[in-house]
Amino acid sequence: MKPAPFEYVRAASLDEAAALLRRGDLDARLIAGGQSLGPMLNLRLAQPGLLVDITGVPELLAAERTADGVYLGACVTHANVEDGRVPDATGGILARVAGGIAYRAVRNRGTLGGSLAHGDPAGDWPCVLPTLGAVLQIDDGRSTRELPAGALLRAAFEPALAPGELIAGMRLPTLSPAARWGYYKHCRKPGELAEAMAAVLWDPERDILRVTLGALDDAPCALDDASALFGRSGSRLSDRFDSDAVDALLQSRGIDDPIAQQMHRVVLRRAVERACA
Ligand SMILES: Cc1cc2nc3c(=O)[nH]c(=O)nc-3n(C[C@H](O)[C@H](O)[C@H](O)COP(=O)(O)OP(=O)(O)OC[C@H]3O[C@@H](n4cnc5c(N)ncnc54)[C@H](O)[C@@H]3O)c2cc1C
Repeated sequence: MKPAPFEYVRAASLDEAAALLRRGDLDARLIAGGQSLGPMLNLRLAQPGLLVDITGVPELLAAERTADGVYLGACVTHANVEDGRVPDATGGILARVAGGIAYRAVRNRGTLGGSLAHGDPAGDWPCVLPTLGAVLQIDDGRSTRELPAGALLRAAFEPALAPGELIAGMRLPTLSPAARWGYYKHCRKPGELAEAMAAVLWDPERDILRVTLGALDDAPCALDDASALFGRSGSRLSDRFDSDAVDALLQSRGIDDPIAQQMHRVVLRRAVERACA
């Protein structure tokens, strides 16, 4: 299939991109890496009148250390993270996650912001960034607001962005030396989107225990305080893993098929075991 005809503008600044999004005469849509939007255009699932290319916007390509972590612009690509061409505050977690996304050709073009805004519950960044405590900068060219990454998706493929708003970038806090991290995803074939994924961040010193379950039918389930999934006895987190509590959580998210429950439970357990290894 070929896309329906559209106009195309390569925005030079964030303000220009936002102004184009606000244009009332055409249904305008941003394009970053095009790795999700491209197929949607070809299948005519999306038929915007105007594509606003944001990959040349300097503000969206920013990547810098901050006093308490890093700031990454929305158009930083998965490959730039994988190759360590942007600063990292997580001891290599970001690069390892980026390297497991799809194929290198997808990673060369796909961006952090595009992945979050597309909102595929099986995407890696929608699962990992909330767990790491990322805070998004949302901009409409006139004002900026902050949003925890875990609050972005109202539902699968439904980012909580008002008309004219775009993701400009994200702040990621530096992890403390005591922080333990685990990530596990189950894919049928390498390069395919996951059928189940889980990320765990445990920092006993700072009293942080976050868990995100991805690849659900709905938006990822980001728990800022996941202590209810772990019992109290046992010093290692993996010994305290409470399968019944996890099953109850899955059921509350509408996952009652025993095979799906087993898959998500095992994937979370493996993420927890990695955090304790
Ligand atoms: C074969 C294949 C396999 C894949 N496998 C995986 C995988 O294993 N894991 C994974 O995580 N992903 C996977 N993906 C998706 C990939 O990571 C994409 O890069 C990502 O979903 C979209 O990023 P993009 O920059 O290409 O966005 P685009 O396709 O350009 O845009 C996607 C959507 O986001 C909007 N958008 C883009 N940027 C912004 C912004 N800054 N603010 C607001 N809205 C914005 C666009 O308007 C569009 O609606 C795969 C893709 C393909 C083609």
